[in-house]
Amino acid sequence: MACSSDSPSPEEGRQKEEDVSYESSAKYNLNIVYFVPTDISERNEWHRRLSEILLHGQSFILKHMNEYGFGNMTVNMFVDKTLGRVKITKISGEHATSYYPYEGGGVKMIEEIESYFNSHPSERNSDHTLVLIPVKNPDPDKRDIPYYGYGRYCFALDYDDMDIAYLKDEDERGQKATTYIGGLLHELGHALNLPHNKQTVSDDNNPNKGTALMGSGNYTYGKYPTYLTKASCAILNNCQVVSDSESIVFYQGASLEVEGIQSRYEGGDLVVSGSIETNTPVSHVNFYNDPATDNADYDAVSWCVEVINNAFEVRMPVNDLFLKGNTPYVLRQRFLHENGEISTFSYAYEFIDNELFIEFGDKDYLDRSQWAVIDFSSEEQNEKAAYVLDGDKQTFWHSRWSTNVASYPHYLSIDMGQIQSLNGFTFVQRDGMRKVKDIEIFISSDSQTWESKGNFVLKNINTAHHVVLEEACSCRYFKVVAKSAFDQEQFAAMAEIMCF
Ligand code: ZN
Repeated sequence: MACSSDSPSPEEGRQKEEDVSYESSAKYNLNIVYFVPTDISERNEWHRRLSEILLHGQSFILKHMNEYGFGNMTVNMFVDKTLGRVKITKISGEHATSYYPYEGGGVKMIEEIESYFNSHPSERNSDHTLVLIPVKNPDPDKRDIPYYGYGRYCFALDYDDMDIAYLKDEDERGQKATTYIGGLLHELGHALNLPHNKQTVSDDNNPNKGTALMGSGNYTYGKYPTYLTKASCAILNNCQVVSDSESIVFYQGASLEVEGIQSRYEGGDLVVSGSIETNTPVSHVNFYNDPATDNADYDAVSWCVEVINNAFEVRMPVNDLFLKGNTPYVLRQRFLHENGEISTFSYAYEFIDNELFIEFGDKDYLDRSQWAVIDFSSEEQNEKAAYVLDGDKQTFWHSRWSTNVASYPHYLSIDMGQIQSLNGFTFVQRDGMRKVKDIEIFISSDSQTWESKGNFVLKNINTAHHVVLEEACSCRYFKVVAKSAFDQEQFAAMAEIMCF
């Protein structure tokens, strides 16, 4: 690979590179790469403009970390404070811009950047890398180059007029400055482990907060109130290039079990509490309330609470959600480990005519020790129907797929050993593919004549969720008929079935 010097070249004779002295007291610092394809050159005053933008972003993060009480923390970089310059590693790409398209171009750049870091190990200062790519004109070019987060890498563009000085301008140049500077910092957020999220209604109306950077703040940054949510800051708090911990070994994995989870609607709040067991300490837990009416997560309204003695409780005023009416929600719960790892669980609730229906939380389950699966449509050798009763969420029933592939509908019939009174059923889907969507439940007292208790739609989540019957019923046998899958394939899987 053709590589230039390890540091930016002097600009306009203003400053010789040897006079620049970059410093950081942190152990880990963000890698910042200016990746120049062969058919384009560095943009005008790139180093000054990008340095100013990055320092602006650094202060933005610092301000919000302080406000939430995380302390004087922000993304660490090598900076020459006197000159106001940030250390940026310029790497000359081996190919022209068209070789690195939006789709797949990021991976190609990562290959070259990793190879450069391997031959220049002092340029790799952490696991987090921001890549900036020069373009002549951002509008047609944005779709032509990588512009997204990818693991702990992110990609954004640089063009001549991307300048902090234009941020507040009303003209087109000013609008674009907001979009692309906000866009750069939004993508940087992804490289620092941040998922999308949206402000609460209260924060939206708060002039000190406004729009979340990791929602649509890339369209408001520097122009209208824009902020980082507490959920985002809590993730940054454990991020390698923000935490500045000397002792933590980052990103070495973590396992976590939610031992108990309770949910209720109380005083206008959705209250979720519970306890965990983990091998790696957890500082906070974030909750992302994502309307399940689309595939986007930009609109997931977030909350963050501390985890104390492995227990948590969050109160989320439903008036702080933008969408109620008739809206199904996925509630994503992210536990933030001190080593930067994140353990994620998902739950479901729903608004029907503005009324909240919570479909998760521990129930008084019937004892299953005398239960048996007495009939099933098909099963796999190592993914047996009986596994839905074994109390282990890791093992699951799977319809036959290795030979004589079985198609929908699939079913399981269960004998509870004696007549039981039932209020509803609880399902834990397989934590992976083949989640069942539409089901019908039948009950019977003799396993010969079956009565339908209705059709239900399960949730595309990886935790226990409930089907509540309109009224309690008595039976000894029940049958679950699976009619379709979320992935629209012919297979069905299920980890656990319980009754309450
Ligand atoms: Zn994004």
